[in-house]
Amino acid sequence: MVLPRWVWDYIKTTMENGSYAEIRGWVRDAVVPRHSIRPTVSEVSSPCPTKRDAYLRRVAKIPIEDSESLRLGRLVHEVFLTPFRESIPFSQLDAKFESIINEYGDLGIKYRTQLYEVYIKAVTMALNTREEGIPISVEPAIPGGAPIGLSDIIKPDILVGFIPVEIVTSSPTEELTNRKDIAVTAYALAIEAWIGHPVDIGVVLHISINGKPRLTWRVVKIDDALRKMFLDMRDTVARIIEHGDDPGPASSCPRTCPFYGVCHG
Ligand code: SF4
Repeated sequence: MVLPRWVWDYIKTTMENGSYAEIRGWVRDAVVPRHSIRPTVSEVSSPCPTKRDAYLRRVAKIPIEDSESLRLGRLVHEVFLTPFRESIPFSQLDAKFESIINEYGDLGIKYRTQLYEVYIKAVTMALNTREEGIPISVEPAIPGGAPIGLSDIIKPDILVGFIPVEIVTSSPTEELTNRKDIAVTAYALAIEAWIGHPVDIGVVLHISINGKPRLTWRVVKIDDALRKMFLDMRDTVARIIEHGDDPGPASSCPRTCPFYGVCHG
């Protein structure tokens, strides 16, 4: 199955303890945005501490340079998601893998061994998921963004039933877990706004390919505190873009930020 057994058990235990979220995507007064600009999920959950990245991209119109870490992130997503997206005949598994990594040139060659391991894990999970009849969709276009003040279409990496799953290509750190929790909260609220079905759980899958590949699953209980945090961040980013306010460079920035050169010379 796409989620390991222990994740389902953990979800059951979490839900047994009750879910009391009042801020729901369908409660208009609770989620109504304060600004007319509607940011994307990745803008709201970006790694920039001051959200200057939104200002640089949307107001100053500085294009993002395609860095190696951005390309690697896309490659890992592609390798993991492809077996879920399409049913690949057994005889064509290796050819499919080669065609994915070949598109990324040297990067695919550099991480070939680790990526192959991730791919085979994904193939096995996808096969089990199909056998068990678990409904999943890969990068579904959810049209629930506008009511919660986000861009029209919201695309989680995977939807398992109504559980949004976000894939991250690095090990969990405190900073990363916080903002990925915000991303799954955005998906949950968008689904709620779209179909009126409560979504109390999200899952974040960390895929690390530094050294031996490691898949780490995290279950996120989407409570009111997280929902409130998301709404505050959404409004902060929307205000920066709407008013063209430059929040200035942060004091500690990830070296992998595509704007590092712009902010720190
Ligand atoms: S370099 Fe720092 S301040 Fe500038 S956009 Fe990146 S994270 Fe934000």
